[in-house]
Amino acid sequence: MQNLRNFCTIAHIDHGKSTLADRLLEVTKTVVARDMRAQLLDDMDLEREKGITIKSRAIQMSYTHRGTVYQLNLIDTPGHVDFSYEVSRSIAACEGALLVVDATQGVEAQTMANLHLALKQRLVILPIVNKIDLPHAQTQRVTEQLVDILGCTPGEIIRVSAKEGLGITALLEAIITRIPAPTGCADTLLRAMVFDAVYNPFRGIEVYFRIFDGTLHRGDLIRFLQTQKNYHADEIGILKLEQVPQATLSAGNIGYLIGNIKAAGEVKIGDTITHAKHPCTAPVYGFSHVKPVLFASIYPTNADAYEELRVTLDKLQLNDASLVKEPETSVALGFGFRCGFLGMLHMDITRERLTREFGLDVIATTPSVQLRAIDKQGRVRLVDKPSDMPPANSLVRLEEPIMGVKIISRTDFLGGIIQLCVSRRGVLRNQAFLGRDQVELTFDLPFIEILIDFFDKLKSISKGYASVDYTLNKFTPADLVKLDILINGVQVDAFSVLVHRKNAFSWGKKRCEELKKVLPRQLFEVPIQAAIGAKIIARTVVKAMRKNVTARCSGGDVMRKRKLLENQRSGKTRMRQIGKVQIPREAFWHLLKRF
Ligand code: GDP
Ligand code: MG
Repeated sequence: MQNLRNFCTIAHIDHGKSTLADRLLEVTKTVVARDMRAQLLDDMDLEREKGITIKSRAIQMSYTHRGTVYQLNLIDTPGHVDFSYEVSRSIAACEGALLVVDATQGVEAQTMANLHLALKQRLVILPIVNKIDLPHAQTQRVTEQLVDILGCTPGEIIRVSAKEGLGITALLEAIITRIPAPTGCADTLLRAMVFDAVYNPFRGIEVYFRIFDGTLHRGDLIRFLQTQKNYHADEIGILKLEQVPQATLSAGNIGYLIGNIKAAGEVKIGDTITHAKHPCTAPVYGFSHVKPVLFASIYPTNADAYEELRVTLDKLQLNDASLVKEPETSVALGFGFRCGFLGMLHMDITRERLTREFGLDVIATTPSVQLRAIDKQGRVRLVDKPSDMPPANSLVRLEEPIMGVKIISRTDFLGGIIQLCVSRRGVLRNQAFLGRDQVELTFDLPFIEILIDFFDKLKSISKGYASVDYTLNKFTPADLVKLDILINGVQVDAFSVLVHRKNAFSWGKKRCEELKKVLPRQLFEVPIQAAIGAKIIARTVVKAMRKNVTARCSGGDVMRKRKLLENQRSGKTRMRQIGKVQIPREAFWHLLKRF
């Protein structure tokens, strides 16, 4: 155990975490040059394309330092807030963390968020300034910033270029000398913590874990404490670039386990593994269920593809335990599913995977958050779908989720950012300076207000410099209303949204106008209305297609022309009453795709 080091990398997106991992793998000769490619650990297509890490990855390297061979376990964590629970479990599996900061960007929101997670677990932090090769690197400034935040000395900060491979040996030395070896006892009851699980279509679920106490042997009957399910550990081993099976694994180690587990839902991240015969009593860490915070309905673009969508979502759920779904029908869109997501990125990724990996075209409705509806009897109902909203007169109040939003930006953009947040009903809670020219703002912001185009606006206000991190804070009473869209007098369920009363009018107007642009003309006039309950708050019409009925009579009597026009008009009134508007799927697609 003395020669073991477990550490993870934490950073804001794009600060060079995966590239740094590449260099470590190279210098320790874990990967031969032939197999080397950039961001080696990001092996999902989507990860490579978006340049982000979605799943955690663990890998073991060997490195000889002063004649002793050390085993280094590196866990590459996903940096995004949507996956912060996973990150926190990965962090809990380690003794140290490499905090990677881009020398051209400085400390950003997720740097701080992940740093706080790591400090909470009492990890040793190795601060690293990366990308020092770039001509506009502000190495000195970023070093000062880190000294400020961590209270360390400038000498403790390691300067590297992950791309050029500068400073990597110094980093490896620091990992060995500064990060403590794991502690724990190999001959007591087994206690291991699951920090990730990966779906393998051929072998079932592969569970990644860290052993804190005890020893695990191949073939042992193990138990997951939380789910109380038992499995045989058919294969256990360590994670090199490939899995390397082992006969035993003991305290301090990070490894994998395969035991005929069918679905990701059977393995809970953060759960404790122990022996079924002699189980430990206390779990390694407090366990919490990850709950979806964002909901949207997904429908196949082609109505016949429902069955295919069902099968595909089932498949996705096999390797994404945090995806929640239930069948749903919509008058307008047919059969589909109501899905729950961890956040906006999670939703985007899921939707893209549906198209990319499974070739399914889908429509997703405007995402909504979960509200608490409290009725006159004091009962609380969770509402995550506009159509589930109980009638307003049966409720005492509605409560909406409020996010604690941390924004880190250059001080120049302070004014614009505050203005944006306040216009979104935000309340400034705290303002702190990080170094000379960075500021960290903490806002309470209603979740509903940041769902749509908040991040884009923030990026443009701050010229791309601001970074954001958020967590669900609390529920507070809110004046929200359900806004319906009526086409030709008929409510279209897929277009209903929950919005703040203050914004209802502008929302309604905007949606009516947008719909007008995409609805094909009918033979009769079609009104489009936005309504709250029975009250119409906005209205527009799609003009009728007009046939020139007077074309036949060249010249002639004016009375005859008028009569023809009147005939036409009365015919159209009749048509509107009986006519049913067919809304093309493209119209939905057009209106909903931006979310
Ligand atoms: P991650 O999101 O933290 O995993 O970041 P990546 O490792 O994917 O790197 C983001 C981008 O920064 C990639 O285009 C890398 O090529 C680039 N990059 C990473 N490290 C360095 C470095 O030391 N110098 C330079 N010039 N570019 C780097
Ligand atoms: Mg990465």
